[in-house]
Amino acid sequence: MVSRVIPVEAFDLVIFGGTGDLARRKILPGLYRRFRDGQIPDDARIVGAARSDMSAEAYRAQVADALNEVLPASKRDAESVEAFLARLDYVGIDATGTHGWPDLSQKMRAGVVQAFYFSVAPALFGDLAKRLHKHKIAGPEARIVVEKPFGHDLASARDLNAMLARHFDEQQIYRIDHYLGKETVQNLMAVRFGNLLFEPLWRNQYIDHVQITVAETVGVGGRGAYYDKSGAMRDMVQNHLMQLLCLIAMEPPAKFDPDAVRDEKLKVIRALDPVEPGDVVRGQYRAGADTPSYRDDAENPASRTESFIAMKLHVSNWRWNGTPFYLRTGKRMKARVSEIVVRFKEPPHSIFEEDTGQSANELTIRLQPNEGMDLTVTIKEPGPGGMRLIDVPLDMTFAEALGEEAADVPDAYERLIMDVIRGNQTLFMRGDEVEAAWAWTDPVIAAWDAREEKPISYEAGSTGPEEALILMHRDGRRWREIGS
Ligand code: NAP
Repeated sequence: MVSRVIPVEAFDLVIFGGTGDLARRKILPGLYRRFRDGQIPDDARIVGAARSDMSAEAYRAQVADALNEVLPASKRDAESVEAFLARLDYVGIDATGTHGWPDLSQKMRAGVVQAFYFSVAPALFGDLAKRLHKHKIAGPEARIVVEKPFGHDLASARDLNAMLARHFDEQQIYRIDHYLGKETVQNLMAVRFGNLLFEPLWRNQYIDHVQITVAETVGVGGRGAYYDKSGAMRDMVQNHLMQLLCLIAMEPPAKFDPDAVRDEKLKVIRALDPVEPGDVVRGQYRAGADTPSYRDDAENPASRTESFIAMKLHVSNWRWNGTPFYLRTGKRMKARVSEIVVRFKEPPHSIFEEDTGQSANELTIRLQPNEGMDLTVTIKEPGPGGMRLIDVPLDMTFAEALGEEAADVPDAYERLIMDVIRGNQTLFMRGDEVEAAWAWTDPVIAAWDAREEKPISYEAGSTGPEEALILMHRDGRRWREIGS
C-alpha cells in the first residue's frame, strides 16, 4: 500500500490542562505516536500548561510515566521517547488569573503554526480565550481546540460560541468530537461517495432502516457527579450519535471541504422531526453481582438521569421520508460495541420458493471492535439439494483486507490533532451545527423533566431494558444483537 501523508509545518502546540487525564491518556500518547511515525517536524514544540508549578524536566518525567502507562512496550522505544520528550516544555499558569501568562507569551515563536488545546473544564474556556487575546499570545492565524461537552443546552452552547467569537473567528475554532476522527467514520464517506455502487441505493426506496449502537460495558464510575447532570442524551446522543447519523443521512457535498461537508450535516439536523414520547426508551442500570447500581455510582439515590437511551428518529426530507433511524447507547451493557447497520429492503419479488433463506442485504459499519465494514449478500448454498440460499458477509475488516499497516492506523485523537496543525476543519463541528443539535435535544429533555419521568431499570451486562427491543419489534424489525 502506498501511503501519502500530508506534511506538517513547524508548530507550537500549547496544551492547557497538560497534566490532566485527557492529556495523559490521549493527547500526549497520540502526539508521541505521530512523532514516532515521523509526522512531527523537528522544529515542533509542545508546551504543557497547568496550575502546578514545575520545571520542564519534571513535566517530561510525568509525560514519560504517562507514555509507559498508556502505550504497550511494542509501541514505544527509549530513543524516540527521549527525542519526543525533548520537544516538550512546560509553563505553570492560572487560567483565571495573571500567573504564568507573560511566561507563555515569551515561549511562543513567531512564524510557526500556533495551536492551543483547551483540555480543561469548560468553565475555563472563556478565561483562556480572553487571556490569550489580552496577552497577545494568539495571532490571527492561531487555532484553538475545544473539548466536549460543548454546552449543556442551547442557551449555554450559544453563550460559549458567542464568548469564543469575541476573540477568535470560526475558522480558528476546532470543536472536537473524537468519533469523527475514527478511521471507519471517514471510510463511511469514502464508501458512500467514492463508489457508484451505494449512493443510488442510499435512500428510502431501498433502505428499510438504519441502526446506530454505541454500547459500553463500563458504568459511570468516578464520573458520577458530572454524568448525573448530563445523562446519555447529552453525553452521547447530542454529539456522537448525532454526528454519525449526519454522515449516514447527509446529501453528497459538492467537495470534501470543511464548509461543504458541515453545511450538509447541518441540513440533516435541521430536518430531524421532534421525537415522539412513545419513540424513546430511557434506562438506568441496576446493581449487578459485583457492580454498583447507577444510583450508587452517581451518589444520588433518587437520580432520574438515564444511563441508556434508545430512540426512533425521522429525517424529514425527500431522501429519507419513511425510513426510520434507530439510535441506542448505554453503559454497563453486554459488550463494548459501536456500529452502524444499514438494512436494505427485501427484493421486491422472489423468484425462489418460500423458505429458501433469502433475506435483505445489510451493511454494517463497525467503529469498535475490529474497525471495518461488512456487507451481507445472499448466495446459493454450495452443494446439491436444490436452490437453498444463505447470507454470507463480504468482509472488509481493514486489518485483514489491507494488512498490518491498516491495523496500525492513527487513533481518533492523533488524527484530529494533526488536522488542527494542518488547518483542516472538516472533521470538527461548526458552531451552528452544535447549536442545531442542542435545539433538537432540548425539548426532548424538557418534556422528560416536565413529566418527572423515571428511567426503566435494566440489568447490568444486558442489552438494556426490554422496552428498547419492543421499540423495534412493534415495527416488525429487530436490533442487531450486541456483540454478535
Ligand atoms: P482533569 O483530569 O481534571 O484535568 C484538568 C486539567 O486542567 C489539569 O491539568 C489541571 O491542572 C488543569 N487546570 C485546572 N484548573 C486550572 C486553572 N485554573 N488554570 C490552569 N489549568 C487548570 O480533566 P480531564 O479529564 O483531562 O478533562 C479535560 C477536558 O477534556 C474537560 O473539558 C473534559 O470534559 C474533556 N474531556 C475529557 C475526557 C477524558 O477522557 N478525560 C473525554 C472527553 C472530554 P492543575 O490541577 O495542575 O492545575
